[in-house]
Amino acid sequence: MAFNVAVDGPAGAGKSTIARAVAEKMNLIYVDTGAMYRAMALFMLREQVDLEDAEAVAARCPLADITIRYEEGVQVVFLNGENVNPFLRTEEVGSAASVVSPIPRVRQQLVELQQRLAAGSDCIMDGRDIGTCVLPGAQLKIYLTASSAVRARRRYDELAARGEPCDLAKIQADIEERDYRDMHREESPLKQAEDAVYLDTSDLAVEQVVERILELCRESRPEG
Ligand code: C5P
Repeated sequence: MAFNVAVDGPAGAGKSTIARAVAEKMNLIYVDTGAMYRAMALFMLREQVDLEDAEAVAARCPLADITIRYEEGVQVVFLNGENVNPFLRTEEVGSAASVVSPIPRVRQQLVELQQRLAAGSDCIMDGRDIGTCVLPGAQLKIYLTASSAVRARRRYDELAARGEPCDLAKIQADIEERDYRDMHREESPLKQAEDAVYLDTSDLAVEQVVERILELCRESRPEG
């Protein structure tokens, strides 16, 4: 049976940075499920579908063939055969992803893809509903969070480092709005699984969080 680690938490909690580092140390594949929702959102934006119109979005889902490949440990998302990685990390696409992600048809398609990937490989998968819905049987579940002020600051620093103009207050407001949508939607809302380990990273360095998760992995991985 594959060894699966589920990591959930709000935007900007450090999930991807941490999961990537743990994946490398534990020889796991890192599966970024947010990128799949982003690819679906990108498709809908390109098709000029009204994102608020759930029926229209659901009707177009079958036309979005989203597949994943791993190239030297890096997840590459293909949308109808095109590598869309360069288009996924914008604020526009992230925000659109949180608008289309509550739509059951969208989730059904992407959760199937995620479950197939996890069944076939030892992986650490991050998202919002991994421990609660996608991989309820994961050997280890982590709920990673941090205050919205800290998360906004991290995002601000990331954008500033890339030379993108940004406004800290607006970033924090966007993060809080996205959290609200993710936590209050009817379909698979973001919440801590009962058996997940809760880790608040507000006052921790990345290395400390990684070290803690590595310890937990070693405890829960059968062969150590
Ligand atoms: O993690 P990331 O910011 O890339 O995710 C973008 C959006 O995709 C989230 O705000 C959330 O609405 C949605 N998402 C989700 N379930 C997941 C991963 C992401 O609903 N497992």
